Amino acid sequence: MIKKILQIGDPVLEKKSLELDIKKLEEKKIQSLIDNLIETAYSEVEKSAGISAPQIGENLNIIVARRFDLQKNEDDKKVIWEVIINPRVLFLSEEESVFWEGCLSVGVGQKALFGPVKRKREVKIRYTNREGKEKEYHGRDFMSHIVQHEIDHLDGTLFLSHINNPDNIWTSKKLDEYMKVHNDYPPAL
Ligand SMILES: [Zn+2]
Repeated sequence: MIKKILQIGDPVLEKKSLELDIKKLEEKKIQSLIDNLIETAYSEVEKSAGISAPQIGENLNIIVARRFDLQKNEDDKKVIWEVIINPRVLFLSEEESVFWEGCLSVGVGQKALFGPVKRKREVKIRYTNREGKEKEYHGRDFMSHIVQHEIDHLDGTLFLSHINNPDNIWTSKKLDEYMKVHNDYPPAL
């Protein structure tokens, strides 16, 4: 079921989420929550690189990340969602990278907000998948940003809090207009 995506200002987005008791993973309630996360992310597939359970109102440590790294090239439209339960960060690189981020919970349509976010260029996590198996994932570049952005949601943090200068925050409308002219993102101030 496609769920309503909570928007910035909603207290659920600011709460720290709880670990899922893995014994409950097979329960219908939890499996439907995972289905709902995937369907809701898929309903915004053009704009979505991932989603977290709190964004649809459940403060549980479950996220879904889009595996852009499994696409062969930009024309490969295959969409694979990785279900990540109870992620723990094992490693963060010293090296950092900057990517423009947006969020399904930070504005809608032309009013959605975007901005350049600096994060660790690599992240390694351990997590449980939806079948209950322990797995590890090493995310690099944009995939590292996606994983860290979604884990931030579980801590009640939105990407805007990583942007120090408000002049770097652009609405979708303004950013589209800029990129049409310049064919690139604006320089970070
Ligand atoms: Zn987000």
